[in-house]
Parts: sequence; C-alpha cells; structure tokens
Amino acid sequence: MQKKTIINNSITDPNKILPMSYLWARQHYKDGISNNWTPEEISMQQDVEQWRAKHVLSEAERRMILWNLGFFSTAESLTANNLVLAVYRHVTNPECRQYLLRQAFEEAIHTDTFIYCCDSLGLEPEEIYTMYQTIPSIKEKDDFVIELTQSIFDPNFSTQGPENVRRFLHDLIGYYVIMEGIFFYAGFAMMLALKRQNKMVGIGQQFEYIMRDESIHLAFGCDLINTIKAENPEIWNSEFQQNVITLIKKAVNLEKRYAFDACPDGILGLGPKQFCDYIEYIADRRLERLGLTKIYNTENPLPWMSQSTDINKKKNFFETRVTEYQVAGSLNWD
Ligand code: FE
Ligand code: MN
Repeated sequence: MQKKTIINNSITDPNKILPMSYLWARQHYKDGISNNWTPEEISMQQDVEQWRAKHVLSEAERRMILWNLGFFSTAESLTANNLVLAVYRHVTNPECRQYLLRQAFEEAIHTDTFIYCCDSLGLEPEEIYTMYQTIPSIKEKDDFVIELTQSIFDPNFSTQGPENVRRFLHDLIGYYVIMEGIFFYAGFAMMLALKRQNKMVGIGQQFEYIMRDESIHLAFGCDLINTIKAENPEIWNSEFQQNVITLIKKAVNLEKRYAFDACPDGILGLGPKQFCDYIEYIADRRLERLGLTKIYNTENPLPWMSQSTDINKKKNFFETRVTEYQVAGSLNWD
C-alpha cells in the first residue's frame, strides 16, 4: 500500500480526516481553539484617552504606533490571502486543512483587530491602509514576500516532481518563516515595549494575543515544512539550504531597516539597535527550527519577549505539555 504523505498523494481523500497521520496538525488546531479571543474583549478606553492627550505620547512614539498599525493592517490580509488562495490549494491532507481553516479564521480576527484600532482611535483609513505602498520600509517587506510566494499563486503550478516540491517549500518558507516568523517581530517587540511602560495597553494586549496566535502559525508552518523535507529528502540539498539562508539574511536586513525607520530615535530607553539584535536572535531560532545552523549568535536583548511569546510556548509545544494557554481572553504572563 502506498504510504500517506503530506503532499502529492493520490490516495489522500481530502474529505476523510480519520484516521489521522499527522497528529501535530491536530494539536495545533486544538491549541488555536483554546486561544480563542476577539479584539472587542479588550477595552480601548485608556488608549483613546492617551492617544488624544497631548502630553502622554511623544512624537516618536506616535509615529512608531502608526507605522506598526500600517504594516500589520495590510500584512494580515496578505497572509490570509496567501493561506486561502495558495497554501490551502496545494496541501490536501485533511488534518492540515482543518488547521488551515482555523488559521484563516485567526487571520480574520487579526484583520478585525486593526479595524477596531482604527475605529477606536479615529485614524484615517486611507492613511493607514496605504502605508504598505507609501512607506518604503513597509513596502519592501511586503514586496519581498509577494515575490517570494509567487510560484504557488500561478494557476498552472502543481507540486508534482522534485523541482516543484522545492519551489513549494521555498514559498512556504517565505510565507511562514519570513513573513509570520521574522517580519512580524520588530513590530511585536515595539508595541510590547510600549505596553510595558503602560502606554497604549489595549493595543499592546491585542498585539500579545496576535503574537500568541502567530507563534502557533509559525509552529504549524515549520512542522509542515519539516515534514515535506523528511518525505522528500532529495530536495533539501546544500544548494537549496544555502538559498534559504540567503533569503533569511535578506529578510533580517529588511526587518532591521524597518526597525530603524519605525523607531529612529529609540523609545522608552530602547534603541533600534536592540530591536535589530532581537531580530537576529529570532532569525537564529527560525534557522534552527528548519534544521539549519544559526548564523548570528546574538544574545536575546529583550528577554521579557521570550517570556511572553514564542520561546516558552514553543518549548511547551514540542517538548512538554501546553500548560499556559487559557481559554478566551485572559492572558496573565507577568
Ligand atoms: Fe495574523
Ligand atoms: Mn498568521
């Protein structure tokens, strides 16, 4: 009997989810469900007061907030579209698709979060939702991801044959590891740094919830990528590995440029240098997750981020039981 594989399997019936072969996909689905939240659960009252007051936020802080709302407001739709229009089409395994449906819902929640932020703060939608075209450091990141994930959008693309499997893997790395795993993280760090100073705590909490969701998206993406690698070992050759390392280095440089642009003077005692070091630190973690050697060897300059985000959770995910997830909207990380 042909063994069930995650892609390119003629015996896979996408409607037949039991029995399952990939229990990690099931686990990520359950973890996603137990993290359920909606933006309206979080009060924006204090944020609105701080945003309106003249003396609470500095000009640099306001700009930083706008830049991050600008990046995330459209990045969430971009990832949702990639997921539903391209990833879902090629990943026919039913337990993975079950997770992708859950992830798609979470991307809808994230898109909704930025609608809620714009509405509550009274921001100009035309300004926020065009920043991915008008702000060069944001546009470069989005363009890089669109370019990287082009082949799976081609209606004639199929994952048949080793060359196409390699292209698919390349695009999955662009989508999961670079977009969700690197390009989101300078923004997360900035908004959480602000929250730690009791500024814009409503938005900060929404970013924490988003980051918690994204850590599962990334974990699922890495499991998917590593499974395809394991089932198609011939495609993961040293030339392709080198190609992936080059892409990650480029992504890190774009994310650093974004950090300098969004936070030029430093805020709250943190400078762009610390955000850049943080990006190098998380890029090393991503490389290791893909089975590659880390390249930066940078120490984590923001240890509080790993307390509240992906590191502990990832440990729990893959090595122990998930214990810190709570149902619906009560986050207590500190
Ligand atoms: Fe998202
Ligand atoms: Mn996501």
